[in-house]
Amino acid sequence: MTATIIDGKATAATVRAGIADAVAALGAAHGLAPGLAVVLVGDDPASQVYVRNKTKATRDAGMTGFEHRLAADTAEADVIALVSRLNADPSVHGILVQLPLPDHIDASRVIAAIDPAKDVDGLHVVNVGRLLTGWDRAMVPCTPLGCMKLLADQRGDLGGLNATVVGRSNLVGKPVMLLLMQANCTVTVAHSRTRDLADICRGADVLVAAVGRPHMIPGDWIKPGATVIDVGINRVTAEDGTSRLVGDVVFDEAVEVAGAVTPVPGGVGPMTIAMLMRNTLAAACRQHGLDDPAL
Ligand code: NDP
Repeated sequence: MTATIIDGKATAATVRAGIADAVAALGAAHGLAPGLAVVLVGDDPASQVYVRNKTKATRDAGMTGFEHRLAADTAEADVIALVSRLNADPSVHGILVQLPLPDHIDASRVIAAIDPAKDVDGLHVVNVGRLLTGWDRAMVPCTPLGCMKLLADQRGDLGGLNATVVGRSNLVGKPVMLLLMQANCTVTVAHSRTRDLADICRGADVLVAAVGRPHMIPGDWIKPGATVIDVGINRVTAEDGTSRLVGDVVFDEAVEVAGAVTPVPGGVGPMTIAMLMRNTLAAACRQHGLDDPAL
C-alpha cells in the first residue's frame, strides 16, 4: 500500500485564502480590521522566527499584526502589565504570548492574565474548561485544530473510529484528545509511562503522534490503512553535519502501511498558523457580536 500524503501546506494555503476573503468582507461590511498582538520575551532564535512568521501571516491576511518584543530580563509583572494593556485595547482582538518564557516568569500566571475572549492560543483555563465541556465557542489551541481539519478533510466523519494520541501535553495531546472525543472517536492517550505502546498504536484507525522524539514510531506500529497525523518537529543532524526536520513517525515506513500520513515538514506545521489566523478572525467577530465567518 502507498499512503496518501496529506498536504498540510496546500490545505493551509486554502484556509488562509478563505480567511483573507472573510477579513476583506468584514472590513467592507463593518469597517472592522481584526488585530493580533504577539508578545515575545527574550531572544530565543526559534521563537523569533515563529513570531515573525505569525506577524507576516496576520498582515498577509489583511489583519493588523502588532509585535511586542521585550528584553529577556523583563519582570513578570511588566509582562502581565503589557497583557492588561492589550486586553483593554479595542484594536487588539487576539493576544498570543510566545512560549517558552524565560525561567523567571511563570507562564501560567501570564496566560491567566489574558482576557479569555482574546486568548487565540486557547491556553487560558476558561477556554480549556469550555473545550472540556464541549462549549462550541471555546478558543481551541491552533495545532490541535489544524490536526482536526486535516483529519476531517481526509476521513470525513470520524465517528466510531479508534484514535490513539501519543503525548499528553496541554498544548497538543490533551486538546487533540478532547477534539477526537467530540468527533465521537474512541480515544486512547499514551505517554511516557504507557506500557505496550506498539500494540496500542497498532489498534488505531487514527494515530496522532505528538511526542518530540525523532522517528519513534516505526511502520510496524501502524495499522494498515490508518490515518497518521505526525505533529512532532525534530531537528536531526546527519554525520556530514547537515541537519533536517523529521517527525515522530518513520515517514518512509509509514507510507507503506498507512492509508494517509502527514509529512514533516509540510503537514501539521503550516496548519498551526492558518488556525491562528482563524482564531483571530473568530475572536474579532465575537467581540463585535457577529457570527463566526463560515470558512
Ligand atoms: P511536550 O514535551 O510538552 O509533550 C511530549 C509528550 O510526549 C508528553 O506527554 C510525554 O509524556 C510524551 N512522551 C515523551 N516520551 C515518550 C515516549 N517514549 N513514549 C510515549 N510518550 C512519550 O511536547 P509538545 O506536546 O509541546 O510537542 C510535541 C511535539 O510536537 C514536539 O516535537 C513539538 O516540536 C511538536 N509541535 C509541533 C507543532 C506544530 O505546529 N506542528 C506545535 C506544537 C508542538 P509525559 O507526559 O509522560 O512526559
